[in-house]
Amino acid sequence: MVAATNEYPTKAYGATSPESGVGPMDITRRGLRDDDVLIEISHCGICHSDLHSARNDWGFTKYPIVPGHEIVGTVGAIGEAVTRHAVGDRVAIGCMVDSCLECNHCDRDLEQYCLDGGMTGTYNGIDRQDGSKTFGGYSERIVCREEFVLRVPDALPMAEAAPLLCAGITSYSPLRTWNVGPGSKVAVAGLGGLGHMGVKLAAAMGAEVTVLSRSESKRVDAEKLGAHAFLNSSDKSETKAKAGYFDLVLNTIPVRHDVTPYLHLLKIDGVQVLVGMIDMMPELHTGVLLGRKVLTGSGIGGLAETQEMLDFCAEHEILPDIETIAMQDIQTAFDRMEASDIKYRFVIDMDSLRNS
Ligand code: NAP
Ligand code: ZN
Repeated sequence: MVAATNEYPTKAYGATSPESGVGPMDITRRGLRDDDVLIEISHCGICHSDLHSARNDWGFTKYPIVPGHEIVGTVGAIGEAVTRHAVGDRVAIGCMVDSCLECNHCDRDLEQYCLDGGMTGTYNGIDRQDGSKTFGGYSERIVCREEFVLRVPDALPMAEAAPLLCAGITSYSPLRTWNVGPGSKVAVAGLGGLGHMGVKLAAAMGAEVTVLSRSESKRVDAEKLGAHAFLNSSDKSETKAKAGYFDLVLNTIPVRHDVTPYLHLLKIDGVQVLVGMIDMMPELHTGVLLGRKVLTGSGIGGLAETQEMLDFCAEHEILPDIETIAMQDIQTAFDRMEASDIKYRFVIDMDSLRNS
């Protein structure tokens, strides 16, 4: 446990430019405000967004940046007014560390869509009170307002719990929003961190689940993860046979691509949810939408829904498939993630940083 001090010097890993890669960096965590919780991070998952952000793929990275928004750990200290968490509690932080908590969207437990300047990102964000930069979970510890700190149920091992904070909730939220349940036919495009959670969660909700993947090598895995079918997205005859079949396509593909083939797979009123690509779309002929197909997107999930998802995973024994790495191996992990050579989420053991 760390004694409460004014500030906390903290070891981290971050990037200083699009070309720098992610390397050791010293940062300072703020001294505790009355409503703050200090978390000693035990594990942090590696999301493809971390790689996009470190390299400035989306054009809005402000350097230096410390990625990491799949954070779990133990409460090390609390501010004077904190009531939700106690020292020693197993806790977690996802993609946001603050929002206004007052606007219409925050009122509806959709803090990720805060109308007052947007949610404050766990990294690459600006603290709403002092204007400082936010730094993420590739670090020993983090300080966060208590409302944005979630409980990790006892049934969830810490390392496996980490990816739930982004990959888990980003898949769970659209499945809930579009009422997936028994009888639903769900396709998951891209079998990576988000995709494999989408498969497990949709199957647990009772849906018939199909994986749409470029990687023939994942055909066997798809079934192990709980999918009922696998379609090789490069094989036009396989996908054509399922035209008009699905209620929901959860599209996790992280790069610019034509979404039209996935719209053809939808039933009337079926929904394609984009959670991966953040980019201009290649031109889309709207004729396909006139078949009453819905094309939409979804961003993470609100605080209450994220807690609900953690509790759901504990109750249904749903855990991501992870490979644990040392902080020092981050660059290799990024390279392998980009090559889709990970089954299915890297998780950093933060003792490797703490003890370095
Ligand atoms: P990931 O683990 O790298 O998985 C992405 C999967 O997409 C890959 O395993 C691969 O699956 C497929 N894929 C990769 N490159 C492709 C390409 N060039 N063409 C077609 N398919 C490709 O990534 P992730 O962590 O799941 O994240 C996926 C995306 O979601 C990222 O862009 C990330 O930034 C975004 N994201 C969004 C939110 C949100 O709130 N909306 C939250 C978290 C992440 P196959 O081998 O099966 O084809
Ligand atoms: Zn993420």
